[in-house]
Amino acid sequence: MAPPRAAKARAAEVVARLAQAYPGSATELCALEHGDPFQLLVATILSAQCTDARVNMVTPTLFHRYRGPAALAGADPAEVEEIIRSTGFFRAKTRSLLGMSRGLVERFDGRVPPDLEDLVTLDGVGRKTANVVRSVAFGLPGLPVDTHVGRLARRLGLTREDDPVRVEQDLDELVPPDERGAFSLRLILHGRSTCTARSPHCGDCILVDLCPSAGAGAVAAGKRGRAAGTATKPGGTPRRAPGTRAGGPPKGAATRRRSGRAG
Ligand code: SF4
Repeated sequence: MAPPRAAKARAAEVVARLAQAYPGSATELCALEHGDPFQLLVATILSAQCTDARVNMVTPTLFHRYRGPAALAGADPAEVEEIIRSTGFFRAKTRSLLGMSRGLVERFDGRVPPDLEDLVTLDGVGRKTANVVRSVAFGLPGLPVDTHVGRLARRLGLTREDDPVRVEQDLDELVPPDERGAFSLRLILHGRSTCTARSPHCGDCILVDLCPSAGAGAVAAGKRGRAAGTATKPGGTPRRAPGTRAGGPPKGAATRRRSGRAG
């Protein structure tokens, strides 16, 4: 059967294939260790310009020392800086963590609000971080757009936009609400393993027959990747799906469920 040409039908097929290749919910696919929405919010702020693995190395100490928003709101900044130093930008991140925690205590009764409009009023929390928290911690619709998501969405012809908010709006039109968080994480996994910024491995790609950029992506995509950069910003990168390999999708559709850690 010929692949669908209409954007909506093509998007549905992309969503389905990625779900098969990278199975799991947003919570299961996410890599940042956390035990509750507050810890996820903290970890996501720390993940800016930093690997999730590094964040996961510092958060156990941070979460043990400060067990909730009230404790972190009243923390000694120098002490927090020392704990999170290795994640980079530690002074700015400390300001964000303490300010975010104060905001939760003063305006949200010490709880992380689920609404995007509320989340983005907190220090250090942008739309991408808010969508991570919504989709991963609360299971609500939320489609974080980072450089991988934007790049793949453009290559796949799902958007023509560069602005992350507009990319998110375009994808929201094409992806069912309950799929958005996991879809974002799957695009990131696919972007890291196969549709890389500089030289996409179209020959190994499960989306090759659906993709308008197939085979021509290396040069154009390379320019795009260099212009946009390849670092993953706050929002958390996903775990590698079971069976995935560098340069290709997972073998088969193994569905081993990971423990309830997210990111
Ligand atoms: S076919 Fe190539 S450009 Fe298209 S999504 Fe796959 S790897 Fe990326």
